[in-house]
Amino acid sequence: LDTPIHEAVLGGAAEFGDTVALIDGTDGASLTYAQLDRFHRRIAAALAEAGLRKGDVLALHSPNTIAYPAVFYGATRAGASVTTAHPLATPKELAKQLGDSGARWLVTVSPLLATARRAAELAGGVREIFVCDRAEGHTSVLDMLSSTAPEPEVAIDPGVDVAALPYSSGTTGTPKGVMLTHRSIATNLEQLRPVIPVTEGNRILAVLPFFHIYGLTALMNVPLRCGATIVVLPRFDLAQFLQAVQTHRITGLYVAPPIVLALAKHPLVGEYDLSSLRYIVSSAAPLDAELAAACSARLGLPPVRQAYGMTELSPGTHVVPLSVEHPPPGTVGKLLPGTEMRIAPLDGPARDAEPGEDGEILIRGPQVMKGYLGRPEATAAMIDADGWLHTGDIGHVDADGWLYVVDRVKELIKYNGYQVAPAELEALLLGHEHLADAAVIGVRDADGNEVPKAYVVRGPSAAAESLTADAVMAYVAERVAPYKKVRQAEFIAEVPRAASGKILRRELRDREKTEQK
Ligand code: ATP
Ligand code: MG
Repeated sequence: LDTPIHEAVLGGAAEFGDTVALIDGTDGASLTYAQLDRFHRRIAAALAEAGLRKGDVLALHSPNTIAYPAVFYGATRAGASVTTAHPLATPKELAKQLGDSGARWLVTVSPLLATARRAAELAGGVREIFVCDRAEGHTSVLDMLSSTAPEPEVAIDPGVDVAALPYSSGTTGTPKGVMLTHRSIATNLEQLRPVIPVTEGNRILAVLPFFHIYGLTALMNVPLRCGATIVVLPRFDLAQFLQAVQTHRITGLYVAPPIVLALAKHPLVGEYDLSSLRYIVSSAAPLDAELAAACSARLGLPPVRQAYGMTELSPGTHVVPLSVEHPPPGTVGKLLPGTEMRIAPLDGPARDAEPGEDGEILIRGPQVMKGYLGRPEATAAMIDADGWLHTGDIGHVDADGWLYVVDRVKELIKYNGYQVAPAELEALLLGHEHLADAAVIGVRDADGNEVPKAYVVRGPSAAAESLTADAVMAYVAERVAPYKKVRQAEFIAEVPRAASGKILRRELRDREKTEQK
């Protein structure tokens, strides 16, 4: 088990040989397992020849493409730590990541080259920029495939050497570089494999980004280890997404709640043949149980299964196994083997979870990160002396050990001494037939007290046009205890979200502040 990540994932590539590993959902180009195995080895050789040495940081700045895994595993095979970057990052944002991670090598695609160059200039320290396609003046990964350089012999220490350096989503603050060793990622892969639905012959649609740890694990490491076929799409567009499911007879989806929402509610969904689908997994953000049920009922599928994790946990700790036919609604899953959990009530010390009691979720196990790069204080604030990682999420377990995530500690709205979870109110609002989307934050009312405010998006129906803010507030008031009432409501065109599907409450707060002025 204790092997580098490229071995852990591609060790079985020979066995899958001519099976198609990756298909480009836009132009149909594809790679077999044998090609992927050969290509990542050639890329490792070419990178080593270009001067890459063990411990160097390589930034991978690309949307999902069929070349992405070959570059990722090629770089780790050459001994690099790969920091995955958002393809839509601005030059400044990318420069920050390059500088913070100390990246010496940058791999991009030609449409993003101007951003990459500018970022490298701002950051300093980047020795060379490669492209996955073609661009004048830059070595192409395509040329690396015919490199005759010897494969580098790199001694990797899986428990110590950092394979991936993803940045957390930055939902609650500045994104931080998360050091994940070969061992933590490979171990999590093996913890997940027996309980998740992907098996050989499955066809997975990779529309969530590989650069985020959820995509990197669920859409790349796990399916490639299992011999599945991955159809990649560079971005989410509902029509293109549905078309790809139909054309490629996709069997499994790993998505985030906004896609579950679209599958449950959007009129376009009925126009495609989605009968090949066998399962849907949702993770990365709270998913309402009723919404999940509406989605699976509409598509005639078993219940949408959730998984829970975070970048700092490589990323998984809880999964609803496919073998459980009727998981309790709303659960994010059961603890993976080899992992420990405690619940720390907000007003007391951590202890073993008592069924039904809410508290901060604490995790200990082999998937806990090595630390935040260059931030010993932030690391110490996150992982205590006994090795417990404090997730910042609140949840509880039931008598059978199923975990329910309530929300993030930081997002709780303190109303009159009570605590209100925005996720609960958002779930309720999504149940309104004329609302397409919703987000809730705490704002200050005229007296300076914190109160819940809802930002809502109208649905496409004619009746949605005449919906008022008062009616939205009344809808919630009829369904919750009085202290949870939404006290303000505003219609917006779209809920701001991160690439991983999370609501960017930060942006709503900024908007609120501007409105106050
Ligand atoms: P940052 O830490 O930079 O603020 P982030 O926490 O959003 O960003 P990620 O590591 O991508 O960065 O996300 C992990 C978080 O996602 C978890 O802490 C949790 O709040 C949320 N999450 C993940 N899975 C679920 C789930 N199934 N249900 C509810 N929330 C989830
Ligand atoms: Mg976080």
